Amino acid sequence: MLAASYANHRNRILMLRKFAKAELNRLLAHLRSLGFTVLGPKLEDEAIVYGQVDSLADLPRGYSDSQQPGKYRVSQAEHQFYFEFNLGPHSWKQFLFPPRVSLSTAQLDATGWTFETPHQPAPKLAFLGVRACELAAIAVQDRVFLHGPYVDPIYQARREAVLIIAVNCTVAAATCFCTSMLTGPKCQAGFDLALTELDDCFVAEVGSQRGAEILEAITTESATPPEIEQAKVREQGAVEQIQKSMDTTNIRNVLLDNLEHPHWDTVAERCLSCTNCTMVCPTCFCSSVSEVADLSGEHVQRIRQWDSCFNLDFSYTASGTVRNDRRSRFRQWLTHKLASWHDQFDSSGCVGCGRCITWCPVGIDLTEEVAALREPPISNRRLPVIEPPPTICHLPRSPVDPHAAISAEETQ
Ligand code: SF4
Ligand code: SF4
Repeated sequence: MLAASYANHRNRILMLRKFAKAELNRLLAHLRSLGFTVLGPKLEDEAIVYGQVDSLADLPRGYSDSQQPGKYRVSQAEHQFYFEFNLGPHSWKQFLFPPRVSLSTAQLDATGWTFETPHQPAPKLAFLGVRACELAAIAVQDRVFLHGPYVDPIYQARREAVLIIAVNCTVAAATCFCTSMLTGPKCQAGFDLALTELDDCFVAEVGSQRGAEILEAITTESATPPEIEQAKVREQGAVEQIQKSMDTTNIRNVLLDNLEHPHWDTVAERCLSCTNCTMVCPTCFCSSVSEVADLSGEHVQRIRQWDSCFNLDFSYTASGTVRNDRRSRFRQWLTHKLASWHDQFDSSGCVGCGRCITWCPVGIDLTEEVAALREPPISNRRLPVIEPPPTICHLPRSPVDPHAAISAEETQ
C-alpha cells in the first residue's frame, strides 16, 4: 500500500509517516530478516562511532557531544533522545571505501606463480543515522568512484548493496558549517528513509521505493500537521545553532590565485602533518597500493589502503618527493578540496561536516584558513630587531651622588 502510494505520488508530504520509537526495533529486526547488517551510532571508547546495531539498546540514547577545534567530548545529557548528538570521528566512507582491501594475490608453488583476484562479495549493509552532510559526502564519493572515467568495482558493489536510513539533525556542533556548503542540516536526497526524532515518535520521510517497502513491515500512520510542524521546529533548531561559516564566493579562484600567500607559511608552522584531517574526512579518497610478501616469499598480496596527501612519500616520484614540506602538503590538501575539486568533479570536496576541525590535534580550522587567505597578502618576513641606542642623560646630577662624578668623567 505504502510502496504503491510512493510509486504513484512521490510526494514528500503524502509520504510523511510517523511511528512509535519502539517500532524502530521491529524495523531493525525486519532489516536483519532481509539479510542486512545494520550499522549505526554506538558509544565506544568515549566517542560515538559507527558499528553493528541490533536493537535500540545499542544506540547512544541520552548522550550528547561537545566539539571545538581540537576537542571532542561525549557526555550524558538530560534528554532521552536516540540521535541528539553530532558526528563523531567515523564516517560511512570506511564501509564503502574500506581502509584496507586485498586487490590480488600471487602464490608460488612447484609449477610457478598463480595469480588470483579475490572475489569480494559486497556485504548487505543498512546505514542507520546518516546525517545530511554525510549523504552529500556519499554523493561526492559516488562522483569520484562511479561517475568518472574509471569505475571502482569494490566501491560500486558495496554502494549498490547499501540501504540508507538518514536522520535529520536537531542539534549542531560548534564545528558544523553545512549551511555554508548547502549540504544540510536537513536531508534532501540520497536516502531510502529520513527520520526526524520527536519526543515520543519518529516522523519518517520516504525517499525511495525500497524505503516505502521496508516501512510497510512496521506499524505507521500519517504524520499529523502538528507533528510535521514539530519536526520542522526541531530541524530549524539545528540551523539556528550553526555558528561557523565559510565564505565560498569564488573560492576556487581565491585559493588558486593565492598559491604564494604568506598565510600558507603561518599555517604550516602549526600543522603536524599527522593526516588526521584526511582520515576523518568523509570525502578524501587518496589511497596507495603496495605488494606485501610473507616471510617465505611464496605468497604475495597486493593491498590498497587509505593514504594521505600529508604523508611525505605520497608525492614521491622517480626523482624524489615533490611536496617535501608541510606548507606544500597543507596547500595541496586545501586547494584540492576547495578549488581543483571543482575542475575534476564539478563540486566542492568539502561538505561542511567539521570533522577535520574537531580532530586536528592543533585545532587548525579550514574556515579560518580560507578567511585568512582572502585577506590581502602581508609579508610575514620578520625584520631584524634594531636595538634602541643607549640613553645618555645630560642633566647634572646631585654632587653627593657617587655615580654623578663617574658620569661627568665619562661625558668629558
Ligand atoms: S574538509 Fe573537513 S569539513 Fe570538509 S568534508 Fe572534509 S572533514 Fe568535513
Ligand atoms: S591540518 Fe591538523 S589534522 Fe591535518 S595534518 Fe595538519 S595537524 Fe594533522
